[in-house]
Amino acid sequence: MIAAPLPHQKIYERVCPVCGAAFATTVPVQKYCSPSCTAKRRKLRAHQRYLKKIRQAELADRQAQQHLTPSEARQLAIHKKIEQTRQQNREAAASRRCCDCGKPTNNYRCAACWRKRGRYELGEEPANDACFF
Ligand SMILES: [Zn+2]
Ligand SMILES: [Zn+2]
Repeated sequence: MIAAPLPHQKIYERVCPVCGAAFATTVPVQKYCSPSCTAKRRKLRAHQRYLKKIRQAELADRQAQQHLTPSEARQLAIHKKIEQTRQQNREAAASRRCCDCGKPTNNYRCAACWRKRGRYELGEEPANDACFF
């Protein structure tokens, strides 16, 4: 392979996917012509997520009525599995109590008790409060 030339400021010519205007930028990742188009795009994304949610609700409905195609059933099963895992994680986080003082915590011990002990136990490193040393 031939070594690439040293990077220098390159002008990228783009067409804004939101308003269709042509523009030039030196930032390779810039996709939109202006902050206002970036904001519009973000709104659109949010709207698409919203539509997706509705679509999933529709699928759940149709499943209840047994009208799903196999691929729709698969899609729904995957979505349900993800939701289930999230829910389990939330419950696990909410139901844990500090092993030493009984304070609600998302860990084996609360941060204060871990600090008192000055150590971790295998596999139970605090996820959020890891600067004890
Ligand atoms: Zn634009
Ligand atoms: Zn504690």
